Amino acid sequence: MRSSAPEPGAPARDFRAIPSVDRVAQAVEAQAPELSRRLAVDAARAEVDHVRGAVAAGARAPALRGIAAAAALRARTLLADAPVPVVNATGVIVHTNLGRAPLSDRALAAVRAAAAGYSSLEYDLPTGRRGSRFDHVTEVVRQVTGAEAALVVNNNAAAVLLALETFARGREVLAARGEAVEIGGGFRIPEILDASGAVLRDVGTTNRTRLADYAAAIGPATAAVLRVHRSNFALVGFTESPDARALADLAHANGLRLIDDLGSGTLLDTSAYGLAREPLVGEALRNGADVVTFSGDKLLGGPQAGVLVGSADAIAAIAARPLTRALRPDKMTIAGLRATLGHYLRGEAVEQIPVWQMLAARPADLRARAARMAAACPSASVRVVDTQAAVGGGSLPGRTLPSAALEIDRRHGSADEVARRLRQAPRPVIGRIHADQVRLDVRTVLPRDEQPLLDALRAL
Ligand SMILES: *Cc1c(COP(=O)(O)O)cnc(C)c1O
Repeated sequence: MRSSAPEPGAPARDFRAIPSVDRVAQAVEAQAPELSRRLAVDAARAEVDHVRGAVAAGARAPALRGIAAAAALRARTLLADAPVPVVNATGVIVHTNLGRAPLSDRALAAVRAAAAGYSSLEYDLPTGRRGSRFDHVTEVVRQVTGAEAALVVNNNAAAVLLALETFARGREVLAARGEAVEIGGGFRIPEILDASGAVLRDVGTTNRTRLADYAAAIGPATAAVLRVHRSNFALVGFTESPDARALADLAHANGLRLIDDLGSGTLLDTSAYGLAREPLVGEALRNGADVVTFSGDKLLGGPQAGVLVGSADAIAAIAARPLTRALRPDKMTIAGLRATLGHYLRGEAVEQIPVWQMLAARPADLRARAARMAAACPSASVRVVDTQAAVGGGSLPGRTLPSAALEIDRRHGSADEVARRLRQAPRPVIGRIHADQVRLDVRTVLPRDEQPLLDALRAL
């Protein structure tokens, strides 16, 4: 670097203009006396590294004060709590990047109570003896799904892994080529199979898989058939999949287990809300699957969890695996899930569970709500527009729900600029950009987030 002169016209890469870590750390301590020496030095080092990278790319080094301010912000961010609560105005109900399902008030209270003190987590109150954490949820899951037996683990990826590990370790699993999918967040069916010690045997073609394809693939090493909900894409056109019941019969006639990964799964029929039908958990069981798995924090509307339901012998075999202990849910999950399932048991899920409230909201009511919000901040130039919301979370790919949004006028700045300022609000607001304007879809804005959203709009 030092020996090579800059090319003509290229910016001089002046690394000498970058202050030393020690000088930056001293400036950080002067600006933010509440920081420890160690935090100040670490933040100074990280910021100096960042500046060095920028200078190498042709930028000019900022002044000492600026570097120190950025380093102080780094250290203060580390001291703050995270993740930061945000307003979801994206119109995607189960938004993976924003934490998926928000809990009901009752589930929230249950989580808080379980976390704040001691509980009967593994203690049987009537007898005073040791109990099982699973007992708090398994009977309720059985009730709402109609399953013979149930088990709950950390998430649905863990549920699928466990089912495969239990029944197919060292053996073969048949899966349709069109279902060997990647869900996002690194969940890829071939890799989960690999991790479970099972061997994937692809069946059929990408778009068409027939019962005869499965039958032809069965051999002495075959242990199970895996069905996977495609979740985040739709297969349309010249497609074919075998009837679920027929596939289960084929599996059982050959002594194989049928594992059905529903992904989101649902206990209520989504077609009642103008959407396509998402597979119902009870239906998958009635179609003969030995094990059905689904997430706790997608359409179920509860905390992150993986639910396994199925026949008593299949679930008992899974529960006995050492890996089940490693993937067990914690007390907050159990409390939140139990309370969420209680809403289904009492027949009040649509009224009480935020995901279902949002799903069921009527377009006319959403428009009225958007109009009321727009009127509440006359200083901001916003107008109410019709838009399309989505369920998200890998359920009902490609399907949308008519919704209403506040569209922010360009006089407040470019879409990127407005989106950035909304993200900097005390409670950051996350919207969507449509035709170079920011839209805030009210369908996914929780009632308690309305005020922070209006405050952010007024500050524009
Ligand atoms: C979402 C999803 C998973 C992963 O579930 P997590 O609860 O995120 O672990 C697995 N399979 C399918 C089909 C999914 O849609």
